[in-house]
Amino acid sequence: MRIEILRGDITTRRVDAIVNAANSSLLGGGGVDGAIHRAAGTELLEACRELRRTQLQDGLPVGDAAATPAFRLPARWVIHTVGPNRHAGQTDPALLASCFRQSLRVAAGLGARSIAFPAISAGIYGWDAGQVAEVAFDAVRSFSSSASASGAEDSPLELVEFVLFSEETTAVFRAVFNSSP
Ligand code: ADP
Repeated sequence: MRIEILRGDITTRRVDAIVNAANSSLLGGGGVDGAIHRAAGTELLEACRELRRTQLQDGLPVGDAAATPAFRLPARWVIHTVGPNRHAGQTDPALLASCFRQSLRVAAGLGARSIAFPAISAGIYGWDAGQVAEVAFDAVRSFSSSASASGAEDSPLELVEFVLFSEETTAVFRAVFNSSP
């Protein structure tokens, strides 16, 4: 599994799946969530409402992930995950690691070969971008090694992109990537 880091707008990525840093309601928010909903069209909100009516009546728990089609986006699916909110006392990195792991699992289950992540929890939810990067790379690497260890059940994922919105966050992700083992 190849990891790439780039600066840009995740809504423009032509990958199989893009990940949305959503909130538990799945009914829209600011930041990357707002951008994804605007670009995907109102069908995305309708699909999220349908998920809430059916499988997720209590909302999507922190650290979990669920997929919808991507409608007007170049991607095929949006994988919604809920990062921990530092301002609400959610400071356990395991919750953040779970977002990355569950998103990868959902993507692999859909047969996705490529996926793009934003810096989950590094915006409104108040996490330090460097810590998000560390958790993210660690989660991707352990997902990749557990997938290849399981032989026949190999994950179809070949490319994991991190698409960062600001120059600063991009630089932080690159620095952490270059310094990680
Ligand atoms: P959270 O609530 O999980 O912190 P935010 O959406 O507030 O989520 O922020 C997560 C990260 O996504 C931030 O670094 C923010 O700058 C970035 N971001 C915002 N819009 C986009 C976009 N269109 N593409 C990629 N990243 C984005």
